Amino acid sequence: MREFDVAVIGAGVAGLTAAATAARHGVRVAVIEKMGAGGQIMTVERIENFPGAAEPIAGFELGPVMQEQAEQAGAEFILDTVEGLALDGPVPVLKCGEGEIAARSLIIAAGSNRRKLGVPGEEEFAGRGVSHCASCDGPLYRGMTVAVIGGGDSAFDEARVLAAHAGKVLIIHRGEKLRAARPLVDAVSGLANVKICLGTTVEEIIGEDVVRALSLREGASGASRREPVDGVFVYVGLEPNIGFLGGQLELSEHGRIVTDRFMQTSAPGIFAAGDIRQGSAALLAEAAGDGATAAVAALRHLGARFESLDAAE
Ligand code: NAP
Repeated sequence: MREFDVAVIGAGVAGLTAAATAARHGVRVAVIEKMGAGGQIMTVERIENFPGAAEPIAGFELGPVMQEQAEQAGAEFILDTVEGLALDGPVPVLKCGEGEIAARSLIIAAGSNRRKLGVPGEEEFAGRGVSHCASCDGPLYRGMTVAVIGGGDSAFDEARVLAAHAGKVLIIHRGEKLRAARPLVDAVSGLANVKICLGTTVEEIIGEDVVRALSLREGASGASRREPVDGVFVYVGLEPNIGFLGGQLELSEHGRIVTDRFMQTSAPGIFAAGDIRQGSAALLAEAAGDGATAAVAALRHLGARFESLDAAE
């Protein structure tokens, strides 16, 4: 079994910041990640609100830079999937696909998965017209009609990316009120090839080999109609990636990990950072802050002194 001082689960912005912060203090740090570095941002083309980036930056550029920074600080990357946790021994043990990893302190930054819409046709046409990645698949729809489902920041961010490629972008939102930030809504509403359909529910994604249309229901009239589309991009929220926890940590009613202000979970020496924790606003700057806070807490758990914190308590 491999042993580390700090194990970080997840190489998104929270996990990479935690790893860089902890490693810089000279402890042995492992980051366990099942995909590549960057997490959710790897499919994001325009990030406008990351501190220090005055121009929009692509997530698939930011992720590798953050990984490099963590590696230069001394963190080790392990490409593997954490399938379970054993918390009944003297230190936490991560049960991974390729073996076990023991760590004196654990930072859970496993992030979220995109929520499914849950309508007929969604699974059937996944990868054949149904997508969660505007920057990857947008160029395939040059001049065509695509639908973006959802009314939050993700839907509007990605609709803006799609509008640069597609002939027409329909944003379909079930409610009358949008969740997305007002400046983003204004920017997207002003694009000539974008139409926003409020109070409209997707009943079915229809196709043959590939997606051909949506069956939509208008909230006001209750009438159903068929809307021809070539692609469907689903952005209906995030669900925390907590399956591997096995119910061993306290969770909020929405399934996010409960922490205190030091990112301490209900189990001593185990911390959570980023949008997997209760109360996260899912902002990248916040995820980075969570990661740094969790790393400091993990280091303190290992006995490191932080004079300003020690004095304040
Ligand atoms: P979100 O804010 O939770 O919004 C999800 C949207 O999908 C809502 O409009 C919701 O409708 C709708 N929805 C949920 N389930 C649905 C269903 N079954 N059928 C149809 N519609 C459904 O999710 P998000 O946009 O992915 O954002 C997640 C978090 O990341 C947010 O905190 C957001 O601020 C943050 N984020 C920030 C940025 C940025 O800073 N630029 C970018 C992306 C995301 P209702 O409103 O009716 O519930």
